[in-house]
Amino acid sequence: MKEPVRITVTGAAGQIGYAMLFRIASGEMLGIDQPVVLQLLEIPPAMDALRGVVMELQDCAFPLVRGVVPTSKPEEAFEGADFVLLVGARPRGPGMERKDLLEANGAIFTGQGKAINDYASRSVKVLVVGNPANTNCLIALQNAKDLQPDQFTSMTILDHNRAIALLAEQTGMHVAKVRNLAVWGNHSATMFPELLSATVGGKPALELIEFDWYRDKFIPSIQQRGAEIIRARGSSSAASAANAAIEHMRLWSLGSDSVTSMGIVSRGDYDITEGIVYSFPVSCEAGKIEIDRSRSLDDFCVERLQVTERELLEERDAIKHLL
Ligand code: NDP
Repeated sequence: MKEPVRITVTGAAGQIGYAMLFRIASGEMLGIDQPVVLQLLEIPPAMDALRGVVMELQDCAFPLVRGVVPTSKPEEAFEGADFVLLVGARPRGPGMERKDLLEANGAIFTGQGKAINDYASRSVKVLVVGNPANTNCLIALQNAKDLQPDQFTSMTILDHNRAIALLAEQTGMHVAKVRNLAVWGNHSATMFPELLSATVGGKPALELIEFDWYRDKFIPSIQQRGAEIIRARGSSSAASAANAAIEHMRLWSLGSDSVTSMGIVSRGDYDITEGIVYSFPVSCEAGKIEIDRSRSLDDFCVERLQVTERELLEERDAIKHLL
């Protein structure tokens, strides 16, 4: 058996946290030979709910779980953490503008970035799920001065998976036949699900679908899928978001066999402004994330890459005092 690793989940008593913890504990994130210690952060008003979640974890008697630490103190939650999933975030309240949301969450992610810097393992891998995820990730990494920016990522695999599922449905093929699709930019309504390089069953996706469907139905459906689920379910996606977070960490740690999408710090690839957290097509090997630099993008794609880049630059401007 391997040595246990420490996994921190924030917002652990929330919807996504609840859908995620039991799967992490059963080995779905890091493998069934990897023992784990779960370090669960919540705000004080949610500590009772978190106690209930801990009781349920206990009642599963998971063989891989070597400890569960429920806490409202960041220094305890991030102590020695090897993996951090930043899920907890302030939801948008009535009358709250996007700028207010950025500001409220900015304060949370400033503190958490500093605490990760001070208490986590030097090789920690951080995934930001709480929205606005890309900019929260930027704030966290900028406040973790002793760690490398590439230790911080934000989640777009859910958008990536949604795009795979919709393309598979439209072409009548199994999801496993869809390859090389990518989601670019911000996890928001400006994200760009790109099909120019995608294939289905080995054939270029754009030869199998009408371009009008791609532009007028596919792209907006992926961009608005979260809102569609809220309308149907009465609350936002939780199980599929938890599934994506687990997949993100698994691929990052254990490697990927095809291209996926992750928010990472831009180094200027594809002319995206350096320093912002932007979703690129990536693959993972031996704990490292590599951008797929092989794509040739047409004007249609470049225009959309720039729209979502502009939104991220505006978000960065709104919180620049926190960087
Ligand atoms: P959820 O667990 O449903 O969501 C948590 C965060 O994930 C939200 O910001 C949500 O964004 C985001 N998210 C990112 N991608 C997705 C996606 N694809 N689908 C759905 N959500 C996505 O929220 P809950 O309110 O149930 O739980 C949040 C927990 O966090 C609570 O237990 C609360 O106590 C805690 N919390 C912790 C804070 C802290 O650490 N300081 C501060 C505030 C809350 P969106 O809202 O846009 O759906």
